[in-house]
Amino acid sequence: MPSKGTTSQRGYNGAHKRIRAKYEPLVRAGQATCWRCGNPIPADADWDLGHDDNDRRQYRGPEHVKCNRATKSRNKPPTPTGNLYLIIGPPAAGKSTWVREHAKHGDITIDYDTIASVLTPPGGKPHQWPATVKAVTKAARQAAIDAATKHRDTDTYIIHSTPSPALIAQYQNLGANIIVIDPGIDTVLARAKAERPWQMQQAIKEWYANPPSQQTNPANPANAGTGADTTRAW
Ligand SMILES: [Zn+2]
Repeated sequence: MPSKGTTSQRGYNGAHKRIRAKYEPLVRAGQATCWRCGNPIPADADWDLGHDDNDRRQYRGPEHVKCNRATKSRNKPPTPTGNLYLIIGPPAAGKSTWVREHAKHGDITIDYDTIASVLTPPGGKPHQWPATVKAVTKAARQAAIDAATKHRDTDTYIIHSTPSPALIAQYQNLGANIIVIDPGIDTVLARAKAERPWQMQQAIKEWYANPPSQQTNPANPANAGTGADTTRAW
């Protein structure tokens, strides 16, 4: 006997009924085992004809009602969860470009320079912000990160040049994918020279002196002893 509603309510077709009827004597003789858990199905028990998990048109055989039910809740589309990406790399590495290429409308992208650029009218030099704009940007960025890591139903991209090891660990606990964008020091120095404020050269050298990618990889001998918190906001 079907455990939930009538066969018509459950929308089963002739094939299901036929296959069920074929198994019925086996189950009633106490000979059937649940294909899902492998344990016998008692002769007098309700039973379900189990579907293949990957192809609902395929029948796998009799199964316990409770096993079938457990599967149904397992197969329920889970609350949609997005991926969390932490994009690390030296200044001028191409982090924003990478995010632009991967993120789609509806995703959350958190980029210091982009936030700063909407908090003050244009007019200054690229990547250079007055102190108050920096402070407000930092607060807005943190608020965005806090909210985005709570609302995990869409992909979130957070750009962070040099997160501390503790911060990386925190993101990893949230299930973040750590993406390191590193085209090499020569490339980024040349790029920075062309398009970034001169202070960036120093920031780049510092990044390569203590790259967070090595901090995330304990197998890398260069990691030994680096514990400096060089968190920066861009
Ligand atoms: Zn079972």
